[in-house]
Amino acid sequence: MPEYRRDPLSGSWVILARERAERPSEFVSQPVHRRLEPCPFCAGNERLTPDPLAIYPPRTAGEDEWQVRVVANKYPALLAAEGTDDREHDGGGKLCEVRPGFGWHEVVVESPQHAVSFADLTSAQAHWAFVAYRDRLRAMAESPPLAYGLLFKNCRGGAGATLEHSHSQVVGMVVIPTSIRVELDAAAEFYGRQGKCIFCHLSERELADGSRMVLSTERFVAFCPFASRFAYEVWVLPRQHAARFDMVKLDELEEISRLFQQILRALEKIFPQVPYNFWIHTVPFDRSTHDYYHWHIEIVPRITTQAGFEWGAGCFMNPAAPEDAADTIRSAMNSGPSTVNH
Ligand SMILES: [Zn+2]
Ligand SMILES: [Zn+2]
Repeated sequence: MPEYRRDPLSGSWVILARERAERPSEFVSQPVHRRLEPCPFCAGNERLTPDPLAIYPPRTAGEDEWQVRVVANKYPALLAAEGTDDREHDGGGKLCEVRPGFGWHEVVVESPQHAVSFADLTSAQAHWAFVAYRDRLRAMAESPPLAYGLLFKNCRGGAGATLEHSHSQVVGMVVIPTSIRVELDAAAEFYGRQGKCIFCHLSERELADGSRMVLSTERFVAFCPFASRFAYEVWVLPRQHAARFDMVKLDELEEISRLFQQILRALEKIFPQVPYNFWIHTVPFDRSTHDYYHWHIEIVPRITTQAGFEWGAGCFMNPAAPEDAADTIRSAMNSGPSTVNH
């Protein structure tokens, strides 16, 4: 029997329709396309990308070995130069508001080798990638007029990647994106009513219930959310209340990068070559929402497609109940490594 579930954060309804998983087109793995041209992200081809904004491990004099490299996006969605748009700045009041397209758009190249998935990185590269995520968000937080920074990954063509080599992107914007605004409003409302952070409340509930738990470590918890929009969606949160991802400490980044590789290896064992996205939700740079917002990372394997119903209704149909998905991921994690651990 299908079921409607309401997500406490977005307020959106999700339709869990397990029967739809029986359809032959569900859960097919995507073909892999290999590039023939030289890869601009591989070691030796650094000249094909702009000069690095940061290099990890932090470069010492005369050494050009790198594990992770951050560069400006060659084809940015927003421009970092101010005053490039001399149209009238419409600060509101009018119906259709316009602002100049100011922002930062950066790429985190996550390995000097041609690794495709975050799961294929060495543990050192995975760790440095998370350090780079933190540092770039911190740099953006300290750079007004940026109001928000979104870090996201597109892995494989089916998840929107145009280059195969493992990388993530960070976009710094002068506006707060809608999904963050929606979560902030729900969190503020819950805090006003219950005097508590809704994310802390949800993760305590998931830990106690256990049926949707994927993994818990000393400082993090990973579970399939109750109203998962996507099949095998996984959320990762710090157990202790923390609003700012850019304040995470090095040893926490080590722990979370390990946990991420475990989860992604399990997903790739269940669905070989699965395209996936993940993104970090952290507090807006004005920091006025510390008490009730809680940073987290959402991982979304692109197993099913979003089509007319999802776009038209703003409501998702998910063929995999999160309880079943969590159970399958736990089994995949417990049945031995699928990839060689470097
Ligand atoms: Zn490459
Ligand atoms: Zn919290």
